[in-house]
Amino acid sequence: MALTLAAVSVALIVFAFDTFSGYESAIAVLYAVVLVLVAPGRDQRVLVAAALVCGALTVMSFVATHWGAMDASNIGRVLVALVAIALTAALLFSRLSLHQARTALGESEANLRIMADTVPQILWQALPDGRIVYLSRRWTEMTGATIADGLAGDGLAFLGWFHPDEQPTALQEWTEFIRDGVPFEFYRRLRMADGSHRWLQISASPVRAAGSGEIEKWAGVATDIDDEMRAQLTVRATNQTLEARVAERTAELARSERRYRSAFEQTHVAMLELDLTAVAQELDAARLRGNGDGAADLAAHPEAFERCLNALRVLDANRAAVDLFGATDREALLARRGPLIRSRTAEDIDRYYALVERRETIEAEAEIVVLDGRVVKVLFGVSPIEAPDGRCHVLVGMIDVTERDRAQELLLAAQEELGRANRAATLGALSASIAHELNQPIGAVMMDAQTAARWLERDPPDLASAKRALARVAGNAERASGILRRTREQLVKGRRSVEPLDAGEVAASAIALIERELRLNRTRAELRVAEDLAPVEADRIELQQVIINLVMNAVQAMRDTPPAEREVIVDVSRAEAEVAVAITDRGSGIDPAHIDRLFEAFYTTKPGGMGMGLQICRATIESFGGTLDVRNNEAKGATFAFTLPLLNGDER
Ligand code: ADP
Repeated sequence: MALTLAAVSVALIVFAFDTFSGYESAIAVLYAVVLVLVAPGRDQRVLVAAALVCGALTVMSFVATHWGAMDASNIGRVLVALVAIALTAALLFSRLSLHQARTALGESEANLRIMADTVPQILWQALPDGRIVYLSRRWTEMTGATIADGLAGDGLAFLGWFHPDEQPTALQEWTEFIRDGVPFEFYRRLRMADGSHRWLQISASPVRAAGSGEIEKWAGVATDIDDEMRAQLTVRATNQTLEARVAERTAELARSERRYRSAFEQTHVAMLELDLTAVAQELDAARLRGNGDGAADLAAHPEAFERCLNALRVLDANRAAVDLFGATDREALLARRGPLIRSRTAEDIDRYYALVERRETIEAEAEIVVLDGRVVKVLFGVSPIEAPDGRCHVLVGMIDVTERDRAQELLLAAQEELGRANRAATLGALSASIAHELNQPIGAVMMDAQTAARWLERDPPDLASAKRALARVAGNAERASGILRRTREQLVKGRRSVEPLDAGEVAASAIALIERELRLNRTRAELRVAEDLAPVEADRIELQQVIINLVMNAVQAMRDTPPAEREVIVDVSRAEAEVAVAITDRGSGIDPAHIDRLFEAFYTTKPGGMGMGLQICRATIESFGGTLDVRNNEAKGATFAFTLPLLNGDER
């Protein structure tokens, strides 16, 4: 304001002096002072206006004072004044412009700095050799260190903020990036103010000189990408875990596949893998035709069922299957077409439905026709297995049971034979006594025959004595033949002689017959016979056989009993309308879990046992109308007890 006043005052004074003093001089050059006073802090337009006003005042003074008397010197003076004003204005104008440009530059620099400091990245600049010369304020905000700290160490101190793991190679890597002279980008963890580390993405581009293309400096930015990086690392770790799992699972699958293959290949059971997909389609079609009841439709249309069975494909087969089907090799079997089993029953249809609908596994017996046309009886099992794309695959296992059936028949025959053999074996025990019995009459026959011969050789022969001797021969021979007849009758099945018997006496004779065995096994046998017994009706030899069998079992059961305790009690008593015989031992007793099986054929726990004895015993007793049972004794051992009905219901 003061300068403006001064300028106006100076202008007025110069004008007044120039116009009214009459003094011939270029006083108007002093208008330059006005311009100098006006210029500071003004706009260029004010300066131009002031210059124009000063010029105008100069011309006005000139015209007022020299109108009509203009000569060259006057005009020269006024022109000098005007040039001086113009020059001064021009000088001041350019100074003002320069000043304004400077101010604008300063402002934009400040703006840039503010921007650099407000962006959420660290901005940096480095010399062409990589030494950092500028770091934005974000550096301090992140690391807690001053800008000066970051720029220290000849511009390389910032490397010290990298994660300890990256320290050893940090300088070398940085140098390599810089040396390559091309834009680069890398990732490092930077130590934060709180001591934690965060991932930064550091990228840089070289700034080249316009003409020479020389690198003038590097400009770059470091962005905090820790969250993204961690997320990525987590994803990567998860992926790796997943990949490891997948690999593990794949290996497991491969192992189980190998196991399956080796089981499939090695087993002696014939195994086939079948594709029933086409069969399933035929079955579906049948169901459509049969309005939901496919089984009825197939039963009514055998040709449709046949078509269905022919749709079956063999996908795989093991060695045993190749052998079972009599194929030359696996390929020959895989090339086989047509149904596997021979039968065509309603049950077969149901089984096919059950299979393709994966409802159940099937086990059954069937006849199959093998490649050379033979029919083989097999026991087979079918179960659905996993198959790709909804296909229907099943695994079939087959065992040839022709042999088993044959063995079964043989077994039955053997069983029958054994029954007979067992009787014979038991009678073996009798043969010693028979031999003993025969010994005596045959010896007597010999003696009497010799005696008779001697009586006849006499001169004259003593016919009466010879006759007596021969009569004795006939009597003894008759006895011997009686013994033989009885023995033969025992041996020939079915020819038993049922007669009234004294059970106590039969028991005594049975024990007598196995006396030798009892002695060898150091076993005592005690016979207790009740006084009031009545006769029973049975076959003597068979009854003996039963008692011998039961006593011998008792003897064998006491093999582990101390000899002093080995005792069999045969108790013959009267009970109601029966005679009861109980054979009690002090042996091992019977495992309660197996007590029911004892009377089954072939049940035995003895290494050389046949398991027929008890079955025959029970059958024999039952054939006489009695019962045979077993129980474990309270203290030790077991008791086998049987009953026999009294003769003709005799009730004393
Ligand atoms: P085996 O000739 O094999 O002995 P058995 O029919 O006579 O056939 O007996 C069948 C099984 O019953 C025997 O193997 C044995 O385990 C059992 N058993 C029979 N008698 C006795 C007994 N007195 N004590 C214990 N177990 C017995």
